[in-house]
Amino acid sequence: MPANITGSCLCKAVKYTITGHIKAAANCHCNTCKKNTGGAFTSLVIVGDESFRFDQGEGSLSAYQVSEQATKHFCRICGTPLFNVHQKFPNNRMVTLGSLDDPTAATPAVNVYCESMLPWVKDISALNCFEKEFQR
Ligand SMILES: [Zn+2]
Ligand SMILES: [Zn+2]
Repeated sequence: MPANITGSCLCKAVKYTITGHIKAAANCHCNTCKKNTGGAFTSLVIVGDESFRFDQGEGSLSAYQVSEQATKHFCRICGTPLFNVHQKFPNNRMVTLGSLDDPTAATPAVNVYCESMLPWVKDISALNCFEKEFQR
């Protein structure tokens, strides 16, 4: 049995548990994901609906129809995107890796929609890194 993986939004109104195994984890570089999260790309974990349960706050979710086939589900109090549902992957949800309480619980294995990958992303590990904020 895989360990339960919990997740939540920024304000903690919505809490969920992934009770089954993660089918896949990917970084999506499409432009819709950029708009969806405000980030350069979005890391997503795919789980079956049967492996996902709400622990609280389902009523605080709002849904936004991103495209004909995809819907974004987010906390309407704090705005955290929690998961997407896509008709191409029925009975699954694509949970935002950043909403996991322990985001190290899953590691993306692939990059998708690389046609839209920002050119600096592939060299990100070469940037100067600071343990905390920027220091001169
Ligand atoms: Zn929230
Ligand atoms: Zn995407």
